[in-house]
Amino acid sequence: MKKKTLYDLKNIKGKIALVRVDFNVPIENGKVTNNARIIAALPTIEYLLKNEAKIVLLSHLGRIKSEEDKKSKSLEMVANEFAKISSHPITFIAKTRGKEIEQAIKNMENGSILMIENTRFEDLKDGNIVNFESKNNPELGKYWASLGDFFVNDAFGTAHRAHASNVGIATYIKESVVGFLIEKEIKFLHDAVYNPKRPFIALLGGAKVSDKINVIDALAKKADKVIIGTAMCYTFHLAMGKKIGKSLAEPEKIDLAKELMAKYKDKLIIASDSVCALEYKDIKGKVYENIPDNLIGLDIGPKTIKTIKKELKGAKTVIWNGPFGVTEFKNYRAGSKAIADELINLKGAITIIGGGDSAAMAMEMGIEDKISHISTGGGASMEFLEGKELPGIAAINNK
Ligand code: AMP
Repeated sequence: MKKKTLYDLKNIKGKIALVRVDFNVPIENGKVTNNARIIAALPTIEYLLKNEAKIVLLSHLGRIKSEEDKKSKSLEMVANEFAKISSHPITFIAKTRGKEIEQAIKNMENGSILMIENTRFEDLKDGNIVNFESKNNPELGKYWASLGDFFVNDAFGTAHRAHASNVGIATYIKESVVGFLIEKEIKFLHDAVYNPKRPFIALLGGAKVSDKINVIDALAKKADKVIIGTAMCYTFHLAMGKKIGKSLAEPEKIDLAKELMAKYKDKLIIASDSVCALEYKDIKGKVYENIPDNLIGLDIGPKTIKTIKKELKGAKTVIWNGPFGVTEFKNYRAGSKAIADELINLKGAITIIGGGDSAAMAMEMGIEDKISHISTGGGASMEFLEGKELPGIAAINNK
């Protein structure tokens, strides 16, 4: 790890730690419905508390494009959830800058926590979209940096974006380090991609075809096999001249799919059969290799499952991103369930599940403790796997 970490900080007792966390959690009717990201940030917060720093937490929550958004996206709900699960008291200030925050920080005791309002409230000023946070406005980064003694970036989920609350603060503060979560994310993802135990298998599913088509190229260079399933595979099926019915695909990427298939002939495995239905609905489907015009492919079929199981036998590194079916529907979970079963029974393998939907799926299946690492950042982990530099990490001091 060439970036400074929490252990590189000296004499932090009584110092003000600005900590960027990723508390961008799902919220329904004013309640946090999945607190995994809060839990993931706790080791860093506990470490700073133990060492008697004063913690100022910053996070974004959703996107702010109107005054209406501000009403439903206050971090206060998240602060309440934090207090509940961590049993640490937390002071919430419903401001992103100003005297109230400055005074509250002055009054902080050692080993206490304060959270300011959603950093993306800075994207809207007097009803106009100004994107001070999202476009890394230097004045804002400078202001936030002036509030603390050092900066800890532990928001892996936003590390692929250069915002004022990560890159901005890191640029203008004297000392910056990565938190335990980012350190762990980098360690697992870096070792898996650059120093994998082999065989190294990558599994790519999900809906965002165009996002991942670039990752295929990067992963195919490094992995022994790249397996592509469910919605991801239909663009490839079009390239092969197969019928895909009304399944999700990106016809404008057919040439790219052809190129990838030619370039990585021995490495790419494309799902062959699909469980299909008439509608995007939780109903029992039927299996096809060529999908009739009126049907949609919603899960991988038994032949594909058999192939994947065979490929996973003896694997020593597996990266899995994106569900292999519309797993929100019970009827289309068989493919992902079969992969999960295979992964948790692999002996001596490093298994990594990445991306928001995949992480939620792993939790729902209750396999999170049997997987080596579940990545909290979808976009960030994808860009890391593509080999791109993540600005939120690049901005942190080197050792
Ligand atoms: P992603 O964010 O790209 O990992 O995509 C996750 C989403 O892909 C989930 O909401 C799944 O329901 C969806 N998905 C998986 N398979 C299919 C499919 N065959 N057709 C449409 N959506 C799918």
